[in-house]
Amino acid sequence: MKAAVFREYSDDPTKVVKVEDVEAPAPGPGEVAIRIESASYNYNDIWAIRGEPTKVPMPHISGSDAAGVVTEVGTDVKKVKVGDRVVSHANLSCRTCEMCTSGREFDCPERKIWGFESGPLWGGFSQSTHLPEVNVVRLQDNVSFDDAAAISMAGMTAWHALVGRAKIHPGLTVLVMGGRSGVGSIGIQIAKLYGCDVITTVGSDDQAERCRALGADFVVNHRSQDWYAKVREHTRKKGVDVIFEHIGMTHFPQEVALLKMGGTLVTSGATTGYDSKIDLRFLFFKGTNLLGATQGTSEELQSLMRWVSRGRIKAVIDSVIPFSSMVDGHVKMLKGGQFGKIITNPQKL
Ligand SMILES: [Zn+2]
Repeated sequence: MKAAVFREYSDDPTKVVKVEDVEAPAPGPGEVAIRIESASYNYNDIWAIRGEPTKVPMPHISGSDAAGVVTEVGTDVKKVKVGDRVVSHANLSCRTCEMCTSGREFDCPERKIWGFESGPLWGGFSQSTHLPEVNVVRLQDNVSFDDAAAISMAGMTAWHALVGRAKIHPGLTVLVMGGRSGVGSIGIQIAKLYGCDVITTVGSDDQAERCRALGADFVVNHRSQDWYAKVREHTRKKGVDVIFEHIGMTHFPQEVALLKMGGTLVTSGATTGYDSKIDLRFLFFKGTNLLGATQGTSEELQSLMRWVSRGRIKAVIDSVIPFSSMVDGHVKMLKGGQFGKIITNPQKL
């Protein structure tokens, strides 16, 4: 089978990521093999190629989102069958520790993100892969492989952050930072689904229009406007109830300052860097809740996919990259500016 493999680290993905032939995997006990029809890019692919902030198993296949058809089941597989249409749930956890058995599989001490920390040669940018039965979710017939791959990890991350952690409910004002991003474009839709007023930030007027189409009530262009002042003005200096952010150190201090008394900031990343400062007065005096979120549960992914099947949440796909030149997707992600997710179809070279 063909897979996108790298064997050394680099800041330039084009120097190390090559589509080449590797042996197709067989499912182990409790695992299923999947013919991957669609896979999407995430920023952890870039971290893996750089080898920063963590070294990944080598040789490496990245890709933490994959959708396709089950082609083989290993021994002890109980529910998933050959021919099932499935999407990956990238949170590999032990399923037996106190975290896993209390519904917090994302906090499992043995947790690994499939397609990032897994390997060698075990990720979604390949024509076939294997996953534990508990790490696949069956797809409704009306959900396409492309939509499933595009939405699974970003959408589950946004669902877990907003619903599972920040516990949004009708009437709240929610600020989604970076509305054009994978998590941002789904975060806007989830907050609307829950009856919130949604503010988001973008980098161009074209992106602003697309965020309004996704349901955003108020959009700030952070390149042409003082986004902090604009959000303050829009909320009549009251600030916002919830902020969903993944931007990191360049925006974090202002975000904390924008929260209402008792407000909640939930972060799922730090694209611009993680060495941020915080004015502790905002924390204790305002009763601020600072929450971290990463990944999500299988049940959260299933909840998300039900709303996708009902048409209430839509996958946002920026572009489809031919698999033979799939490294172009990494380059595009590094340049930034894409709206939603970049995907590739491994069966279509
Ligand atoms: Zn565990």
